[in-house]
Amino acid sequence: MESDHKLGVCAICNKIASLRCTGCKNQFYCSTSHQRDDWQRHKLMCRAWKIEENNELGRHLVATRDLNPDDLIISEAPIVWGPAPHSDKFVCVGCGSTNVAVRCPGCSWYACKVSCDGLVDDNRHGIECKILAKAQIIPKCDLLLILRIILLFKRNSKRWLNLSMLQSHVTKRGINTEAFEETENVIHQLEPILNTLSISKEVVGNICGLIDVNALETNPPEGSSAIYQTACLLEHRCLANTRHSFTIDSKGRPKIIVTAAKSIKKGEHFSTTYTHVLWATRARREHLLATKYFACCCDRCKDPTELNSNIGTLKCPCGPGLILAKDPLDMNTEWSCNSCPGVLTSMEVHQLTERLGEEVENAMATAKATVLSDLLSRLSVLLHPGHQHCIAVSHSLIQLLSPEDPKKLELCKHILNTTSILDPYGTRLALYTAVALRELAACLSEDKKLYLERAVYLLKHEPPHSPGDELRKLIEIQLSK
Ligand SMILES: [Zn+2]
Ligand SMILES: [Zn+2]
Ligand SMILES: [Zn+2]
Ligand SMILES: [Zn+2]
Ligand SMILES: [Zn+2]
Ligand SMILES: [Zn+2]
Repeated sequence: MESDHKLGVCAICNKIASLRCTGCKNQFYCSTSHQRDDWQRHKLMCRAWKIEENNELGRHLVATRDLNPDDLIISEAPIVWGPAPHSDKFVCVGCGSTNVAVRCPGCSWYACKVSCDGLVDDNRHGIECKILAKAQIIPKCDLLLILRIILLFKRNSKRWLNLSMLQSHVTKRGINTEAFEETENVIHQLEPILNTLSISKEVVGNICGLIDVNALETNPPEGSSAIYQTACLLEHRCLANTRHSFTIDSKGRPKIIVTAAKSIKKGEHFSTTYTHVLWATRARREHLLATKYFACCCDRCKDPTELNSNIGTLKCPCGPGLILAKDPLDMNTEWSCNSCPGVLTSMEVHQLTERLGEEVENAMATAKATVLSDLLSRLSVLLHPGHQHCIAVSHSLIQLLSPEDPKKLELCKHILNTTSILDPYGTRLALYTAVALRELAACLSEDKKLYLERAVYLLKHEPPHSPGDELRKLIEIQLSK
């Protein structure tokens, strides 16, 4: 609960009270014990969200009241969690730690230490340990989340019921898809267990779909993934209005905390971003279609200039002209110049950007200022300076140029212009933007402090001990000098 100079009436005893519910800030209490007594009644009203449903979006979350930046929206423990699928990292099967040093005494899968609490806890590794010990399959961490869901299914627990209400898009994961191949592979590896528990292929296919569509990567613990009942209903926007972070709860699970990234009005949809914000529209939409099975039609996707970031814009040989997609929502759209009759097919644009993308990747691997500088000059002939390739090269280059180089200042400003448009609340690119802010600050004699403070502000949500968190500490030391 929190307390400020405002007063209200306690919901239980009607006395004048100054403590308020931290969630909604609307309900007053005289004491924590009266808050506890009222929770069963109040929790339904306290929620900042409600679930709505329509044909286009399915179930989604809508704000039940006006919210300020950083206001809490969701705080919940996962339905299920485990080592991240499609990851080759080893994590402790008991607690999710990436410090893997020994083997679980029961099943010989990876563990942080023999005495790790999670290994014998039936709510964590305890039950599956016996099954793994009997089945004797080769330890592969990315199988474990699937196995944990199989066990929920087998027990027909309430948690399985909650999971089965989420989307798995099985119909789009049929034969000749990558998802199908992966599922077959999983079935092959888990065969001894599937036979013992008599689990059908269809069930495994459904579970793999549930994971691919709904699981979120957590940090902490790094290298794990979790499925959340409410947070899974956040709809995708390429520019979202929430941010999320994780904390380990008293039962060792990664709890998700979703907060408002900006002011949100009652009735607005809550959203998050399931793709890379520094990719141009075609790449983002293809990625979403392949992984989440839907086509994004948000304001950014609809706009040929992508909110004036020009992250996909080409330059026309005519001189001043810019080449933009006629209809960004159509993969096969023509691209036309805004100042001459020049036209390119979508295939031509795609091939050009792919080819340049390869060059960018090769140049970045060298991490040499001269190589990157040359490439950037060549890219600037064909691409808008805000194009994703120019931004990528610029971001590496600023870290190699000396503060006296006027080019450095210019590139920092380009990058910060792009991130301020595509990630204005720092929900996705906090570290990326903070790096550019710090390089910019190095170039300046005045206003240095302003940019460094902005970087610290952006990094305050980064997970503990992550590179972003370490950078924040560094900048704070710099600021205190
Ligand atoms: Zn009271
Ligand atoms: Zn409340
Ligand atoms: Zn452990
Ligand atoms: Zn074990
Ligand atoms: Zn979009
Ligand atoms: Zn032109």
